[in-house]
Amino acid sequence: MSEDLKFRDPDAAEELAADLEELMDRIDDPVEIMHVCGSHEQVIAKFGLRSMLPEGLSITMGPGCPVCVTDMPEVDEAVALAEDGKVVATYGDMFRVPGTRKSLADAKAAGASVEVVYSASEAVDLAAERDEEVVFFATGFETTAAPTAAILQTGPPENFSVLSAHKYVPPAMEVVAEMPDTDVDGFLAAGHAATITGYGLFEEFVDGYDLPVVVGGFEPIDVLYGLRKLLEFLAEGEDGLANAYPRCVTREGNEAAMDAIREVFDLTAGEWRGIADIPDANFVLSDAYAEYDARERFDIEPVEGDVDPLTEQCLCGDIMAGTTSPEECDLFGDECTPSNPVGACMVSDEGTCKIHLEYGGRP
Ligand code: SF4
Repeated sequence: MSEDLKFRDPDAAEELAADLEELMDRIDDPVEIMHVCGSHEQVIAKFGLRSMLPEGLSITMGPGCPVCVTDMPEVDEAVALAEDGKVVATYGDMFRVPGTRKSLADAKAAGASVEVVYSASEAVDLAAERDEEVVFFATGFETTAAPTAAILQTGPPENFSVLSAHKYVPPAMEVVAEMPDTDVDGFLAAGHAATITGYGLFEEFVDGYDLPVVVGGFEPIDVLYGLRKLLEFLAEGEDGLANAYPRCVTREGNEAAMDAIREVFDLTAGEWRGIADIPDANFVLSDAYAEYDARERFDIEPVEGDVDPLTEQCLCGDIMAGTTSPEECDLFGDECTPSNPVGACMVSDEGTCKIHLEYGGRP
């Protein structure tokens, strides 16, 4: 059996599902697990894993879609730069995310120069080819903050700068854990972010919040195995930390990548769209790299405007906080679809609304 199929083996999945049932019998109480990763939601929805869960066990997606938590004023800054004649380079997922007045796609349709790139280094290549100022609208969690940091350490062209909307997940987990409306019993943490940060990063969270955390991979067996580890902790009344993705994640993570992040970025408080103003959760360029900071280099003045009334109805923030589901939004699949998205959760492949519309959500 190939490695891929091994992690999708139906017999192994049935065995793990039986283990979950036995553990839930021991716990004898409803359990809510939150994951913080769009890739986890994709595998859960795509393989119908929720339908395999025993009664009383639910999995909710938290603030795990980087595009979805990018705040509207951050999109507005990128739009303002594009409308001011800068070349704005960004990841494809960000292209259609609505700002207050418009998205970068709208700005491009009106004549602004907006380019979709697949990596930070491609944005630097663009700057090397062009005479104009090229601003990389950099979004994502630790996994994309690391390459942005690495590219700045190489000394990019003078006409290159970064508008950072990178975000750091652990403080957002703390905010969600403290929310009165959430009732999370444990977290399934994202394996790819942990390849950078290391799973040891969660020790402080586990100690501080008395909630178990298990780092999980992205195949069906990875997710079910991660859930079993979480239920084992809960059945024993423990608040432990486990690495259920050892083929990729170590306790220390990628120390070179973390050194680059620490050198290039500082952490500051910032708004996560619709969720909260979160302390130490936004990456901004450090003083040593201020020359590449688009916010330092340019006077960014977004044009003010009213938020579209439909956008006002978007529940994306509540969905990211785990307090509601896409199916509870009146616009879901009707006024709001992937081809005509009202909110960011319907734009990104990691957005809960898009995933639920594509694969079905809660059974
Ligand atoms: Fe927002 Fe659309 Fe999701 Fe409703 S369906 S919460 S409008 S993204």
